Amino acid sequence: MGVALVIPAAGSGSRFGSAIPKQYLPLAGRPVLAWTLEAFAGLVDEALLAVDDAWEADADALAAAAPFPCRTVRGGATRQASVAAALAAVAPHHDRVLVHDAVRPLVPRACIAACIAALDAHPAAVVAVPCAATVKRATSDGMAVAATVPREDLWLAQTPQGFRRFEGLSAFAAAGDLACTDDAQVMERAGHRVALVRGDARNLKITTPDDFAVAEALLRR
Ligand code: C5P
Repeated sequence: MGVALVIPAAGSGSRFGSAIPKQYLPLAGRPVLAWTLEAFAGLVDEALLAVDDAWEADADALAAAAPFPCRTVRGGATRQASVAAALAAVAPHHDRVLVHDAVRPLVPRACIAACIAALDAHPAAVVAVPCAATVKRATSDGMAVAATVPREDLWLAQTPQGFRRFEGLSAFAAAGDLACTDDAQVMERAGHRVALVRGDARNLKITTPDDFAVAEALLRR
């Protein structure tokens, strides 16, 4: 019994426009991934990092410094394939798995704990926040508004996203190469009820260079 953490960190970060993937860039003096691992201290029993071969040495150094046993595995061609590779390496005595974006270093401990607790009653759970924005659907050319989407039942998915290991293994095997953009989707497609766990606006996904400034300000607070 125990909780394993899977971190897909094999992306090249090409959209970010940096030669160094953003999970390895320094944030307030330490790599983003070091902060991300630190956020889970005392809450998980092991971690698996899915990494690109080119960054294996950096990832191994971060794994060695993690506050719990941490190993690296070779990532796949998509996020989903990277998660599947890491999931296959989770120790079988860990019955619950959390998947967390490498670039969400500010995840509050309360969100992680709530996601783990949800797996006592549900096969899967996703940390998410209610949609505060007004959402427009665009016309196919992206030039005009086609409709306003009612936001009452819309939630924005964050990570961690968790599932029971056994159910997760079969759901990922069944998903093939659908290239789901998150793990809850893999569980939904397998027919599992996915519990919503209240997330936090501070659980920022570092996506653009400006996000580094925001994340540093939040960390210093
Ligand atoms: O590109 P995107 O922001 O959607 O990537 C989400 C996460 O998945 C990132 O942490 C990235 O490193 C990871 N990823 C991966 N393997 C891939 C592509 C992305 O582990 N082949």
